[in-house]
Amino acid sequence: MKVLTFHAPGDVRIEDAPEPTPGPADVKIRVRACSTCGTDVKIYNHGHHHIVPPRVMGHEIAGEVVEVGADVTGWAPGDRVQVIAAIPCGRCGECRRGRMTVCPNQVSMGYHFDGGFAEYMVVPRNVLDVDGLNRIPDGVSYAEASVAEPLACVLNGQNLARVGDGDDVVVVGSGPIGCLHVRLARARGAARVFLVDLNRERLDLAADLVRPDAAICGAETDVVDAVMKLTEGRGADVVITAAASGAAQEQALQMTARQGRISFFGGLPKDKPVVSVDSNVVHYRELTIVGANGSSPAHNKEALQLIASGAVPVADLITHRLPLADALDAFGIVARGEAIKVTIEP
Ligand SMILES: [Zn+2]
Ligand SMILES: [Zn+2]
Repeated sequence: MKVLTFHAPGDVRIEDAPEPTPGPADVKIRVRACSTCGTDVKIYNHGHHHIVPPRVMGHEIAGEVVEVGADVTGWAPGDRVQVIAAIPCGRCGECRRGRMTVCPNQVSMGYHFDGGFAEYMVVPRNVLDVDGLNRIPDGVSYAEASVAEPLACVLNGQNLARVGDGDDVVVVGSGPIGCLHVRLARARGAARVFLVDLNRERLDLAADLVRPDAAICGAETDVVDAVMKLTEGRGADVVITAAASGAAQEQALQMTARQGRISFFGGLPKDKPVVSVDSNVVHYRELTIVGANGSSPAHNKEALQLIASGAVPVADLITHRLPLADALDAFGIVARGEAIKVTIEP
């Protein structure tokens, strides 16, 4: 079969590999869709400390069950499934408290296990043990189901930032994650959603699809000023930074309303993780700053339901569908910001 394998930073190859054999507690799937994201581009360029090469990449996975290990119950060939990306241990103190996104023993598809940029893939028992293999609801395509994983992360972020009814929400970053944040905020009853990006082309592409109440280009306008004007001087109830930008995080504090919430959704570059925060602004305005680290198996199930019910449509966010042979082109398209979501159909 064909796979996309990470060998070293800058050395990612499409190559032939033997079909994997599932163990007695595993499930083997025929991958039908695996979406790409910024993380894949980061791995391509810099590698990742959890990846020991060679490793098949791809963590936004949907496919069809083709073989079930002897000890596995509840699954059969032909079942349409979505696979979680981050796999909690299910046993530690955090997992037992229900905080699976911060499990210190977390492992991941495409990092510790071979991922979905392949014709066939083994879903390891680690996934099945934490109920991380999900049935795709009727009416949801494989490509749409592959977007459930990033949507699950967005859902975790908005739960932590308590996005809800009547909120004015600013989303900084108009990539696929930013688009999903706009759509989910609307589904949760936000009053108005404003989308911000430095890149005018990408902002326009995203705004055409997700129709924010205002699209603000940070290269042309003072973003803080614009948000304060749009909110009659009050600021936004929630500001979500879905961009690897410390400047965006610092700006977020200046445009958040009293008792507002700030989600540092996107992480910062490893070598530039420090920002400055006026602690008195947080203190007197009673602000909440929250992080967000991936998603739990339950978030993935809920994301599939949000897609199935139409509450958060994702089909139109998939702007490119490519065969596995063109996966390296896909990384280029993602890196240049020319697409919203690029889905590989191996
Ligand atoms: Zn991803
Ligand atoms: Zn755990």
